[in-house]
Amino acid sequence: MAFGLCLFYIEYMKYIDLRSDTVTRPSKAMRQAIASAEVGDDVLGDDPTVIRLEEKVAALFNKEASLYVPSGTMGNQVALKTISQPGWEILCERECHIINYETAGPAIHSQLLVHPIDTERGVMTAEQIEARIRPDDIHAPRTKIVAIENTHNRHSGTVYPLDEIIKIRKVADKHSLLMHLDGARIWNAYAATGIPLADWAASFDSISVCLSKGLGAPVGSMIIGSKDFITRARRNRKLFGGGMRQAGLLAAAAIYALDHNLERLVEDHANARFLAEGLNRLDGLNIDLTHVQTNIVIVEIAGTGKKADEVLDILKQNGILAVPFGVTKIRFVTHLDVTEDDCQKAVEIIAGLRL
Ligand SMILES: *Cc1c(COP(=O)(O)O)cnc(C)c1O
Repeated sequence: MAFGLCLFYIEYMKYIDLRSDTVTRPSKAMRQAIASAEVGDDVLGDDPTVIRLEEKVAALFNKEASLYVPSGTMGNQVALKTISQPGWEILCERECHIINYETAGPAIHSQLLVHPIDTERGVMTAEQIEARIRPDDIHAPRTKIVAIENTHNRHSGTVYPLDEIIKIRKVADKHSLLMHLDGARIWNAYAATGIPLADWAASFDSISVCLSKGLGAPVGSMIIGSKDFITRARRNRKLFGGGMRQAGLLAAAAIYALDHNLERLVEDHANARFLAEGLNRLDGLNIDLTHVQTNIVIVEIAGTGKKADEVLDILKQNGILAVPFGVTKIRFVTHLDVTEDDCQKAVEIIAGLRL
């Protein structure tokens, strides 16, 4: 039994796991930070480590306050619930997380009408948005929120240009719209451009960011905004069942992640570029290298004559994990727990497979 478990462990360890930047596991030092965290009862508002995390994140983004929540999905949904009223219309890019991966949350939790906008690269322009704003008319829903995803997951981790965001803010001001940022990977936009987090945040009324993606914390996201917004969001977090008691254990990991894993994201980006360039040289695999700006690589595999699931099975048998991204696309994500060597090995292995 012990021997079997041991073999399984070796078997498991050998995968180069490029499925997502969510698969990272806490390091020894992060576990030490967890073990020594001071805690209280965060629902009663007296967990000192959660308070420290919330102050730290608010300061990083130059906003008044922030709130720790269990997941990015809850971050987006609590934020939207807090800034909206039932029946409002929210403009979103069609491939965004809020539409595709949050179980119809805006409709269910907040009674919002989601209006998807098609783009080539995940970037809705200010002109596109202004054209979609409905007139004040008894027949029409009220267009009231724009949600932006930066970086954009399904568009290969692309960075939203800051000047476009600033133009959108002008349109939003003109038409009294609120702006929400799904910044699950805003850290990667910072790492890719050097533009400070506060500058990325400045145009937005509400923001959600993930701690458990590239930063490598085990659990959690933050909602960020004004004091008044966060006070109301705290109530909605409780409504959604997201109030956690001795959450300082998790907040300690998040503080550790912010202190140690933010500046190193450039390594993930370099690894993604290496992977993308290596794979793009292989017959049957095609990657738009202009899309590879951060830690996500989407590979078009139509040229192999195989479907995504087939290719993923073959990769798995050869020690590499990735995920399907449509019938003939697969996604690789680099992160804290894959090294440059792993990426080199992955390219060599895939080259040898002659897909
Ligand atoms: C991962 C992600 C989220 C949140 O996901 P959870 O799994 O709920 O933490 C939100 N938005 C984007 C763009 C994401 O990639």
